[in-house]
Amino acid sequence: MIFKKPLKRYNSIDHKDINAAISVMKSGALSPFIGAWPEISGIGSFYGGKNVQLFEKNIRKFYGTKYAVSVNSWTSGLITAVGAIDTEPGDEIITSPWTMCATVTSIIHWAAIPVFADIEDETFNLDIKDILKKITNKTRAIIIPEIFGHPFDIIALKKILNKRKNKRKIFLIADNAQTPLGKFNYRYSCNFYDIGGFSYNYHKHIQTGEGGMLVTNNKKFAERMQLIRNHGEAVVGPKKIKKINNIIGYNFRMGEIEAAIGNSQLKKLKKIVKSRVKIANYLTKNLSSLKGLSTPSVKSGFNHDYYIYSLKYDESKTGVPREKIIKKMNSLGAPVSPGYVNVHLYPMFQKKIAYGKKNFPWSISEESKKISYKKGICPVAEKLHEKVLIKIPLCNYQFKKHDQYKMVKCFFKTWNYFKIS
Ligand SMILES: *Cc1c(COP(=O)(O)O)cnc(C)c1O
Repeated sequence: MIFKKPLKRYNSIDHKDINAAISVMKSGALSPFIGAWPEISGIGSFYGGKNVQLFEKNIRKFYGTKYAVSVNSWTSGLITAVGAIDTEPGDEIITSPWTMCATVTSIIHWAAIPVFADIEDETFNLDIKDILKKITNKTRAIIIPEIFGHPFDIIALKKILNKRKNKRKIFLIADNAQTPLGKFNYRYSCNFYDIGGFSYNYHKHIQTGEGGMLVTNNKKFAERMQLIRNHGEAVVGPKKIKKINNIIGYNFRMGEIEAAIGNSQLKKLKKIVKSRVKIANYLTKNLSSLKGLSTPSVKSGFNHDYYIYSLKYDESKTGVPREKIIKKMNSLGAPVSPGYVNVHLYPMFQKKIAYGKKNFPWSISEESKKISYKKGICPVAEKLHEKVLIKIPLCNYQFKKHDQYKMVKCFFKTWNYFKIS
């Protein structure tokens, strides 16, 4: 054993966050949201309580977006975003198999059809060439998870999409859950999408326990998202809103305690990401000499938030299967794990069973019946998952200097053990 005790969990909560939560408790106003219009003075607001509204204002300032709409999780945020862009049942929405499943089920929630494009093996983000192959006249949107912390090359994709003339508009939604500071050319990447957004669950860079935030520069989307978040069907009449498609209200509202914690956490975000980057750089410097192992790449013009530190392992160069390496590393106490996910292979997609037992929403049209989720549709994602990726969850552990040193030691000890040189 090199790690004699389990690594300490990363904890971003300090006394300032605790005091912020306590002051909400003392006020008694834990969530002054009301699903009604107009506001009822002294009772509540359609736009939520003062901490919620302040959190949204702080997010707008931080990212430079015109609008921010808080939600009770980023899963709720994704569902809200897909509803806001006028998704019709049976529309196709392209996304990645390498993401948390909520990215994909948000599409199903509106009876739309997920279409998986493959990923590229440098950053593990969607492969633009494969996205283009998957576009049809039914494509309504592309949901792009910026995975592990590396932003997607959205400008390159937009340049190509902008050349399509007289075609149906394709909306671009970013899943920035793992890239809270994702930047492209000095601007936060969420600004380059129609809608972007963040997760504040316990496992992310900053947290509010559960929580999420939608950001957009489009006023209409912002308003539709506020309606979907908060029982919109009861509000569209009195608010005189004509466009009522997809305004099927939920209660996706963020509470005041979470918002107060969020305001306090946001102040630490840059420092936290910086600390992860420093650890990643140390690992990269020390692991890059190991045969058969490639450290994460950062494309020029981009940054990396290192939600996950991703290594690529090449068995053909070492003669040792990845699983044996992982087993040895784990026996030394190192928290490394193999692969990520292949969402397209989940039972929901293999069996095409979501709403009821009769294949809805795939049963909606001849085209959607033919959409394939067979193994082999995303060969790069499948191979990386099955044979190549080794990941270190940088965001979940503290990784003090001595832990970083031990991590490197585990790798060298494992390579020595298998006589790889
Ligand atoms: C965490 C995560 C989500 C879901 O966020 P929740 O706030 O837990 O609902 C979605 N997509 C990605 C890529 C994530 O990492």
